[in-house]
Amino acid sequence: MKTDSFTLRHLGPREDDLSEMLNTIGVNSLDELIDNTIPNHIKLKKPLNLPSPMSEYEFTSYIQNLSKKNKEYKSYIGLGYHPTILPAVIQRNIFENPSWYTSYTPYQAEISQGRLEALLNYQTVISDLTGLGLANSSLLDEGTAAAEAMIMLYNNRSRTQKKNESVQFFVSDDVLPQTVSILKTRSESLGIELIYGHHEEVEFTSKVFGAIVQYPTKNGQIYDYTHFIENAHQLDVKVVVAADLLSLAILKSPGEMGADVAVGTSQRFGIPMGYGGPHAGYFATKEEYKRSVPGRIIGVTIDMDGNHALRMALQTREQHIKREKATSNICTAQVLLAVMAGMYAVYHGASGLKYIANKIHSLTNILNQEIKKLGLKQENTAFFDTLKIKVTTANSIKKIAEASKINLLYLDHTTIGISLNETTTINDVEKIVSILAEAEKVKYSDHLNYTEIITIPNDVKRNTDFLTHEVFESYHSETEMMRYIKRLEKKDISLTDSMISLGSCTMKLNAASEMLPLSSSSWNSIHPFVPIEQAQGYQEMLRDLEHSLNTITGFSATSLQPNSGAQGEYTGLKVIRAYHASRGESHRNICLIPASAHGTNPASAVMAGLKVVVTKTSEDGNIDVEDLIAKAELHKDNLAALMVTYPSTHGVFESAIMDITKAIHKNGGQVYMDGANMNAQVGLTNPATVGADVCHLNLHKTFAIPHGGGGPGVGPICVAKHLAPFLPSNPIVKTGGQHAITAVSSAPWGSALVDLISYGYIKMLGADGLTNATKFAILNANYIKSKLEKHFKILYTGENGFAAHEMIVDFREFKEKGIEVGDIAKRLMDYGFHAPTLSFPVAGTLMIEPTESESKQELDRFCDALISIKSEIEAYKEGQDSVLKNAPHTQSMLTADEWKFSYSRKEAAFPLPYISTSKFWPPVRRVDDAYGDRNLVCSCTPIEDYVEA
Ligand SMILES: *Cc1c(COP(=O)(O)O)cnc(C)c1O
Repeated sequence: MKTDSFTLRHLGPREDDLSEMLNTIGVNSLDELIDNTIPNHIKLKKPLNLPSPMSEYEFTSYIQNLSKKNKEYKSYIGLGYHPTILPAVIQRNIFENPSWYTSYTPYQAEISQGRLEALLNYQTVISDLTGLGLANSSLLDEGTAAAEAMIMLYNNRSRTQKKNESVQFFVSDDVLPQTVSILKTRSESLGIELIYGHHEEVEFTSKVFGAIVQYPTKNGQIYDYTHFIENAHQLDVKVVVAADLLSLAILKSPGEMGADVAVGTSQRFGIPMGYGGPHAGYFATKEEYKRSVPGRIIGVTIDMDGNHALRMALQTREQHIKREKATSNICTAQVLLAVMAGMYAVYHGASGLKYIANKIHSLTNILNQEIKKLGLKQENTAFFDTLKIKVTTANSIKKIAEASKINLLYLDHTTIGISLNETTTINDVEKIVSILAEAEKVKYSDHLNYTEIITIPNDVKRNTDFLTHEVFESYHSETEMMRYIKRLEKKDISLTDSMISLGSCTMKLNAASEMLPLSSSSWNSIHPFVPIEQAQGYQEMLRDLEHSLNTITGFSATSLQPNSGAQGEYTGLKVIRAYHASRGESHRNICLIPASAHGTNPASAVMAGLKVVVTKTSEDGNIDVEDLIAKAELHKDNLAALMVTYPSTHGVFESAIMDITKAIHKNGGQVYMDGANMNAQVGLTNPATVGADVCHLNLHKTFAIPHGGGGPGVGPICVAKHLAPFLPSNPIVKTGGQHAITAVSSAPWGSALVDLISYGYIKMLGADGLTNATKFAILNANYIKSKLEKHFKILYTGENGFAAHEMIVDFREFKEKGIEVGDIAKRLMDYGFHAPTLSFPVAGTLMIEPTESESKQELDRFCDALISIKSEIEAYKEGQDSVLKNAPHTQSMLTADEWKFSYSRKEAAFPLPYISTSKFWPPVRRVDDAYGDRNLVCSCTPIEDYVEA
């Protein structure tokens, strides 16, 4: 046995376990199980054509060598991305800490209080700095946040506006180019018309419903937008201000200028550039929009004892509930990055942020003075950190600068831009000036000294306090900060505690050797808009990853731009629409979606301008093929696409899949496959084989990127040859096909930094390892199924009675006893487990997906817990107090002098022997969801206090 094989580390079950597991399932071999699970006619005939696997050690040195092909220049390019200093205490204790990066989206509030508090801090930072009462806890990037703002204002056009006519959205010429590109993509399918101009010259008509301006502008000029916004409001035009978050520490807030929405990125709060991402986009608005805000909002509520607790608020507006009526398709966001940005603010506090902002601003002033001495003209009359400079020839500056390992922004032949940042020193400024002097052939030999010089005009100076809550004033020493982070960490369940068997979410191992490269500055410090030859390490990695994903899906091209699965769905549908349009068939606008689909599917379809037609699910849980084909034929003139998840969200390889895809093609449609269940396909079958034209992959599920507590994600789309020309582009660095659609994310290759994780996963597993991962995922699921089916009803299985990589356990029969599936979810916490997926795709059920990474012992522990809960259900009598209804039990309940329950403390908190060796204590009792929504508070300082201040 090759004991240095990564496959051995990635897979949970040991060789010795295999026969017992197969025995329990009732098959003789793993291959027999697979033959019984995957229909023969869709199986791949050959192994994946991928290079042989590297050991962990080999990968580590390989990726280090590759990183040397990236050139670590100092980048003063700006345009929404800046070098930052990630405090080491945050790097070591959050960014590199699996307890933070392997946790799930905080749906189970009681075991997520740590990251919920971190996210509440983040919302407070955003709300305070922007001066707007309500902030969400992150969107995917600045560009998509701007698009979400536009769409929210469009959907909320006021009654005085004639809705049919009021379809124009004004985009200032000063907005970042990548944001404009995304606004184009997103407006087009919804019938929104973009109009462009300078904000001081535009005259609004009744056709205009909204506007966006950039603050400071893309080239660094600061305008006071107060009057512009006042005028706009008089004409019922709502205004979005895209603002640089760090500048707001010393600039008047968008809220004080009257803005309706503020958007941007929190990248400057300590997050590495990573060649484009991931970073958390921010979104803040007025309270009146609370039911329309895209993404997740963390709110304050109480638990069963009336104690303070946190939870995700207002979930009824989200895509998983509202589906085609949802206000956005945001599911995975950028939680880990939002947590880190919030912690950056906790560590620095208001005074630290002001110091950083003032220092950057002062250095920019020193640079400005020296530039004047060189006889050059600097065009920004008021600036924060960015200068726009007229020069003789930008090209000669570029040559000299690059020779000194410096990147500036080259706007045209005679104009350059320079953006300073947190890492800039007075020596850096001196260096920049000497480069300009050399290019302009001016003698220059000044030695510069740092002094504080503030030139922010009075009308845009910040005069209001921010981050006054004590959390931002208590942890400024490293010891205190480290302990604060640890204190929050200990409140949460992550993969470092126990398996998280969330169906459809594929919470597998995120191996340390896959994660290590992310900490290297030669990967994480690269600006996304550097000349391509400076990022050859990245280019090679990205091309190779695209190639591997093509091989795995059977398709011919891949775009890594989408920053989440749902964004991938949207991109795939836009590509399909572009393809239809290229054939003179832009009228095709019907999208068939089976009733069992994930909520993001219909939400994405609507955003792409498609009309959703839902097809039925049959008794056995499969797609009702007759109904689907009938609807395809009925709509054949306008059929654009089918969105289908395969294997189905019920965990079944439906053998009719090829009849279905054929019927769609016959009627002129394209087949979009939701690849969330790719973990059951890799190496055994693929989307191209079953007849799909495009699929997205969730690299944060199948390909080992950690869930991060709800992001980052990467949702690349892989497409058949005829769709490749339409893959998305970027306005600054060319990507995509010959007839590329405009951008779907701000960065050319989306969240490139975390692609390294999936790259490592594929490189170290190779063809056999990847295929074995799929087989073991199916093995583990069927092992659980065999153990649980003696005690519970398992819904839907394949034709031969086996599950694929996940299964649904039905708890509806206990409802008449008064037990809800939610009670089971809460009770699992007492056993140290995170609940499986709750009530999706079928209400009243749990969907379990163990993944290949869990060991037999862990699967046994989990089954024991559920079986023990079954006996608790049997013992339950309505009206009596019960471990099920009181779950989860906290340490303070157990240690209180008084114990008022009819069962023992041991039954409450230590119902099985294994628990005593590693008890996880939920920090709060069951939270009150309704109370939280009725009394929405979503920043550390209550909004009332905020208004009074
Ligand atoms: C996770 C998931 C999605 C959405 O992916 P995000 O990255 O969260 O946007 C879509 N469909 C299915 C079936 C999923 O499980």
